[in-house]
Amino acid sequence: MSSGDEAGIVARMSSYDAVFVGSGINSLVGAALLSRAGWSVCVLERNDQAGGCIRTSTDLTLPGFTHEVLASWHPLFTGSAAYAELKDELDRRGVAYLNTDLPTGSAFPDGSAAFITTSLEGNVAELDRHVAGDGAAWERQLNAFMANADLSFGLLGTELWSGAGLSLGRKAYKRLGRRGLLEFAGGTLSTCRDWLSGTFASEQAHGLLAPWVLHTGLGPDQATSGFMTQVIAAALQLGGMPVPAGGGVRLVDALAGIVTDAGGEVRTGAEADRILVADGRATGVRLADGDVVAARRAVVASVTPTQLYGRLLASSDVPPKVSEAASRFRYGRAEMQIHLALDELPRWQGADAERLARCPIVHVTPGLDGVSRAVNEAERGLLPAEATIVCGQPVALDPSRAPEGKWIIWIQLQELPAGRVKGDAAGEIDTGDGRWTEELREAYADRVVARLGESITNLEKATLKRVVLSPADIEALNVNLVDGDIYGGSCALDQNLLWRPLAEAPGHGTAVDRLWHIGASTHPGPGLGAGSGYLVAKELTKPALPQRLLAKLPGRS
Ligand SMILES: Cc1cc2nc3c(=O)[nH]c(=O)nc-3n(C[C@H](O)[C@H](O)[C@H](O)COP(=O)(O)OP(=O)(O)OC[C@H]3O[C@@H](n4cnc5c(N)ncnc54)[C@H](O)[C@@H]3O)c2cc1C
Repeated sequence: MSSGDEAGIVARMSSYDAVFVGSGINSLVGAALLSRAGWSVCVLERNDQAGGCIRTSTDLTLPGFTHEVLASWHPLFTGSAAYAELKDELDRRGVAYLNTDLPTGSAFPDGSAAFITTSLEGNVAELDRHVAGDGAAWERQLNAFMANADLSFGLLGTELWSGAGLSLGRKAYKRLGRRGLLEFAGGTLSTCRDWLSGTFASEQAHGLLAPWVLHTGLGPDQATSGFMTQVIAAALQLGGMPVPAGGGVRLVDALAGIVTDAGGEVRTGAEADRILVADGRATGVRLADGDVVAARRAVVASVTPTQLYGRLLASSDVPPKVSEAASRFRYGRAEMQIHLALDELPRWQGADAERLARCPIVHVTPGLDGVSRAVNEAERGLLPAEATIVCGQPVALDPSRAPEGKWIIWIQLQELPAGRVKGDAAGEIDTGDGRWTEELREAYADRVVARLGESITNLEKATLKRVVLSPADIEALNVNLVDGDIYGGSCALDQNLLWRPLAEAPGHGTAVDRLWHIGASTHPGPGLGAGSGYLVAKELTKPALPQRLLAKLPGRS
């Protein structure tokens, strides 16, 4: 169908059951699930490739090297409800996960290191190696966590403002009682620092776990960071650190294939400009080029609240309280990525060199206080003097990512100021007017790489090519990563869980009928777990109430 406009430009008009804005993991999973349920679906992506933060590149550094430009590690996806449901089909489409028994370690300035393995015995022995008794503490904390793991994971995988959220609360109350529930809820609020110091004696155990809190968008002194550290500790032992063989592009292609094979469309180079609303109901999306994609049953937007309420919806379609709250939505710390192609395998220093080289993720850190200090410096607008270096080694899992005998390093720096940089905590780098110029980006990367060179002794000699992405470069790759916040909005408690994305519009339904909000800015937040896309797809395809009630009758399963 097509319709001419007044200027004589021919705008295309097409029509689907559901139209998704954005093609990140949440949209692709939601679109795949709806396609399997018989819906016709269109996914709109403004970039020239689908996948959002999953962006695999073979031309970032040198021929033969395959880099994950942004997100790399898939434990949240392989542990998700979405993967459980789609696994058979993804297997058929060639998505194969590679994993390890040694997911992570920390390398400390004195040359010592500590590790997490996928075996309980291994972790007990490893923690006892540093201070006797910490092994038993690991086992105790893990058992305590697992006893209520369904509640903890439920908190992160349930539509909290719904009947399901209420049922989760009832289940917790029934199991734990009033006092127990209070204790459980209080425990989820604790900080990483308090939990670590109350659980483990050794500095190494603290330095092993504290950097992980950065991967939840928090810092070690923030509320809920203790709970998130426990979730991650359990997830690492239970799930390892899977990556898709060949890169995340395999997953993106497979999910997009489910949509297109069902007759749907994944349209790249298609920037949504306006969500069309008639009589309080979303009816489609108008693109920047004027094309209109009509939505018969749902529009699902995987964007920030700033974009949804400040740009895509006409102000007359948004309740003033929601617009005002969206304009106050806060973005978190910024991030930098450094990609290195190496001519040879890394030579880690110290007695644990062999294990460090086998770990897909090594945190190079002075420990808990070091993470805390760097986060605090970043939050005060400064470049940290001694950042936590997240040193990813994808070739340790997937040899296809680099030519034989060569290596890739994927560095993540999660402690950078949100917005303009006010100065350098080390007093070494001139931060100019605080904008991310090429000079500022490379100067900061030089400092980080030099520090990493103290742990990997052949780093400088072996580096064939380096590519650095500043927070501004990261935002340019994905508009949802405002100012380089890779988690789609601050994950501080007042903007997380029950309050994500906005206390005035929590969950995934919106004030506009048939318009749904998903993505990292919404519950359960960032990461490749696809939680929001899954929850919305389930809500859209759930049987009507009479059928649900009938299914509950005795004798029906
Ligand atoms: C550098 C980096 C490293 C990370 N590492 C990991 C990791 O290893 N493991 C992990 O679990 N998580 C990681 N994360 C977090 C995780 O990748 C994200 O939280 C998650 O991918 C977000 O998915 P999403 O569904 O919200 O959509 P996104 O991936 O944010 O994609 C949204 C898409 O929507 C498009 N879009 C936005 N507005 C419009 C519009 N108006 N019209 C059309 N298209 C639009 C954007 O172009 C983008 O492609 C990382 C993130 C980054 C940036």
